[in-house]
Amino acid sequence: MLTLRSARFNKAVTVAVRGLASISFRDSYGAFIGGKEVFPKNGATFNVEDPATGKHLCKVASVNKDTVNQACLVAQEVYQSGKWSRSDVRERARVLNKIAVDLRANINDLAEMEVAQTGRAVREMKAQLGRLPEWFEYFAALIRTHEGTVPPFFGPYVNYVKRVPLGVCGLLTPWNHPLLIAIKKIAPAIACGNSIVLKPSELAPVSVLELAALCSRAGLPDGVLNVLPGLGPEAGQAICSNEFVRKVDLTGGTPTGRAVGAAAGANLAAVITELGGKAPMLIFEDADIDQAVNGAAFATFVASGQTCIMGARVLVHHSKYEVFMKKLTDKALRIRLGDPFDVTTQMGPVISGNSRKRISGLVDRAKKEGAHVFCGADIPSMQPPFDKGYYYAPTVLGVDTKMEIWREEVFGPVVVAIPFRDEAEAVRLANDSPFGLAAAIWTKDVMRAHRVADQMDVGIVWINDHHRNDPSSPWGGQKHSGVGRENGVSALHEYTQTRSVVVRTDDSKWDWFEQPNARYS
Ligand code: NAD
Repeated sequence: MLTLRSARFNKAVTVAVRGLASISFRDSYGAFIGGKEVFPKNGATFNVEDPATGKHLCKVASVNKDTVNQACLVAQEVYQSGKWSRSDVRERARVLNKIAVDLRANINDLAEMEVAQTGRAVREMKAQLGRLPEWFEYFAALIRTHEGTVPPFFGPYVNYVKRVPLGVCGLLTPWNHPLLIAIKKIAPAIACGNSIVLKPSELAPVSVLELAALCSRAGLPDGVLNVLPGLGPEAGQAICSNEFVRKVDLTGGTPTGRAVGAAAGANLAAVITELGGKAPMLIFEDADIDQAVNGAAFATFVASGQTCIMGARVLVHHSKYEVFMKKLTDKALRIRLGDPFDVTTQMGPVISGNSRKRISGLVDRAKKEGAHVFCGADIPSMQPPFDKGYYYAPTVLGVDTKMEIWREEVFGPVVVAIPFRDEAEAVRLANDSPFGLAAAIWTKDVMRAHRVADQMDVGIVWINDHHRNDPSSPWGGQKHSGVGRENGVSALHEYTQTRSVVVRTDDSKWDWFEQPNARYS
C-alpha cells in the first residue's frame, strides 16, 4: 500500500491496481489547499483511467474559477505573511532537503502510481523518479550559495542588488512526466520563497497531489504549495487571470502555450512556456552506427514517444541510410509491448483513446501522402485486459519534407526518416521546423560535432546521446517550443526578481534647488 499518504488526505475506499503493484488509489481525491484536502462545493469531478486497460482508477475534484480564486488568496496571504517568503534561506534549504529525503523513501510507490496513471513502463518510471530528489537538493544548495551583486554605481553610492521572490506563481503541468515536470518547477519556486498554485494534468493528477501532502509533512508551511486539479480551459485559465498570480509557468502543447500566454499577458503576469518539439537526430557517416541506432530507438520510443524532446526526425547520411534504417526497424520490431507493471515490458500504451486517434490520423495521412512504412503504423493486437488499452505499434516512416508529419508533433511512438547528402543539407533539414527544443548529433568527428551544434536553432543539443537532463543544466526551447528556461541558475532567475538598493555614502548636505551644478543622475 502507498505509505506516503498524508493524514491530511481523508481515508476512503481504495481500488487496487493489477500486477506487481502494491499501490492502490482512493475512490476520490480533492484539491490540496492551505495544507488540507478540499472538496469544492459544486462537487464536480473528472475520472482518471488506466490507459493500459481503459479501466477507471479514481475520481478527482475538478476545481472551478471560485476555488482557484480562493486558493490564490490563500497563497497570497501566506506569501505576504513572510512565513516562507522572508524566512532564512537556511530554513528553506533545510525543508527542501527534508522533502528530498522523504521523496527518496517513497519513490517506488510514487513511480507505481505514475505507471498506473500514464501507462509508462515501470522500469522507466522508477529510473526517472529515482532522480527527482536531486532537484530539491540542487536548489537547496543553490539558494545557500547564491550571492547578490554590487554594480559600479556612479558617485558616492553603494548599490547592492538582491534577488527576491515574485509572489504567487501559477504552475500548469502535463501528464507525460507528472512528477518530474511538477518538481522541476516546484523546487526552484519554493527555494526562492514564492507561493504556488499548481494545476496538474487532468489525465494524471494524483501523484502530484500526493507530493503536495509529502511536502507539507516535511515542513513546508500550509498554503505555500496548493494543488488544484481541474480542466485547462476552466481552472488553468482562471490561474492565468488571477490578480495575485505574478508568473505562469506552463509545460504543455504549443496551442496551450498561446492560450496561456494571451491570458497571462492580459493579466500582466510573466510567462515561462516549455512546449512541443520535433527533435532531429543527425546521423553522420562516421558515427558508430550500432550505438546511434540504440540511441535513436531510446530517443524515439521511451515513454511510447510521448516526450517533448523525443527523437522525432532521423536524418541519416545517404551512404549509411539503408543500413541504419534496417537496424532501426529491426530494433523497433523487437520492442516488447505489454503490461506497464511488468518489469520486462519495454513500451506501454499511449495516454488516451483521443491521443491514439490523433497519432493514427497523422500516420494514415502520411501514408496517403506517400510515406514509406518501415514498420508499425498500426494498432497491435494485445491480450486481454490490454486489448482495451491504447497501444500503438512502434512506427518508422520514410518521408519527405512536404508531408504534414515532417512538421507536426505526433506525441506518440513514430519517427520519420530522411537521408541527407552533406553537412549543410543536414543542418538545413534539422532547422526546417517550427519547433526548436532539442537536437542530437551522432558523429566521431569532434570538430564537426561542435560546428554543427553551433548551427542548431534549439535550446538543447546532445552529442552522441539523447534526452539527458540534470537539475543544473538549462532546459527550454526556441521558436514554437517556448520561452524561458527550467533548471540551473536560469530557474533561480526565473523565480526571482532583482531589488536594487542604492545607498548614499557621502553625508555632506545637498539641495537640488540651491546647487545649480548638482548632478541629476
Ligand atoms: P496540454 O497542453 O494539453 O496540457 C498541459 C497543461 O495545461 C495541463 O495541465 C492542461 O490542463 C493545461 N491546459 C490545457 N489547456 C489550457 C488552457 N487553455 N489554459 C490553461 N491551461 C490549459 O499538454 P499535455 O497533453 O498535458 O502534454 C503534452 C505536451 O506537452 C506536448 O506538446 C509536449 O511536447 C509538451 N511537453 C513539453 C515539455 C518541455 O519541456 N518543453 C515537456 C513535456 C511535455
